[in-house]
Amino acid sequence: MSEAVEYDLEAIETYPERVLTPDIGREKCQGCQKLCKFYCYECYVAMPSIRDLIPKIELPLHLFVIKHFQELNGKSTAIHAKILANDSTTIHSYPSEDWLDIDASTCLLLYPGKDAVTMESLVENKTLDKYKNIIVIDGTWKQARGMLSPQMRQEHLIKHNKTIKDLLLNAQKVSIKPRKTKFWRHQTMGESHLATIEAIYFLYKEYTEASKNAKNDNIDDLMFFFKYYYNVVQKNYIENRDKKYTTKHSTDYIKYK
Ligand SMILES: [Zn+2]
Repeated sequence: MSEAVEYDLEAIETYPERVLTPDIGREKCQGCQKLCKFYCYECYVAMPSIRDLIPKIELPLHLFVIKHFQELNGKSTAIHAKILANDSTTIHSYPSEDWLDIDASTCLLLYPGKDAVTMESLVENKTLDKYKNIIVIDGTWKQARGMLSPQMRQEHLIKHNKTIKDLLLNAQKVSIKPRKTKFWRHQTMGESHLATIEAIYFLYKEYTEASKNAKNDNIDDLMFFFKYYYNVVQKNYIENRDKKYTTKHSTDYIKYK
């Protein structure tokens, strides 16, 4: 695999600062009544004051996020896709009893490895257009490996209808070009392991660039919340230079201009 490259987040055409400002406080979620900032990660809805102001994305392929049950909602950036592209995103827990009645032959599964193909190769062999759905796994790499293993744990089997497992096993795996993450959270797998929303974004970006038929309206808006939080973290550290920043970040993480 080629080496991961830096990407330019500033150049991604989404402008969260026009809507999200530091003075927006917590609001009561109309679904669960909890106090939330910007969105509720249990109900997957934006808070009332920003609901009509944030971008609305219609994805060219339906996005199925399969979330490992141990992956905490509050930690997951996949939720950004659900908030921003509500009608074309569904999130399912793994294992779960959700019945996914989708033909695996119409699904691309984002997962690297020897049997993964690239968008370009799908264009070359003229099969790209038959895909209608994208599946992205939300979880650690260890959890993802378990989800893709043909073996099933006994304790999972009982709360599982197996359609999600079958989809994961039979969908065409696809990989994206390696890029360095800009995620601010500590993870031990190295800088080429992207946050889930970064992976979703680049997958759709590569898809819309490869497919002649795909609309490419505002895929960049998938990075709306990510870009906002990234800028907040950067600003916070630049304004507090004396404060030693956590060694959890790689040493060149903060971009002092
Ligand atoms: Zn809620």
